[in-house]
Amino acid sequence: MAYVIAEPCIGTKDASCVEVCPIDCISTSDDAPQYYINADQCIDCAACEMACPVTAIAHEDSLKPEWKKYIAINTDFFR
Ligand code: SF4
Ligand code: SF4
Repeated sequence: MAYVIAEPCIGTKDASCVEVCPIDCISTSDDAPQYYINADQCIDCAACEMACPVTAIAHEDSLKPEWKKYIAINTDFFR
């Protein structure tokens, strides 16, 4: 189980979450549209969820139905 970054990050991408993650498991690249959480490393601390200014982050069990696809989108970035 892990936290997931969803659609609102696209166009914002301000890295507030990166600054608060205690294990540095949130990444992106210059050409990627958003940031992503590494589900293999996330310890479910919720620090990133509270830091995001656009409410893009949620636990995978609490994601809106239309954002469930972001579970795979986050995971695929680290493959
Ligand atoms: S829940 Fe915690 S460990 Fe997981 S990505 Fe967010 S800040 Fe990092
Ligand atoms: S804090 Fe929110 S908007 Fe900013 S990079 Fe992280 S997920 Fe994206």
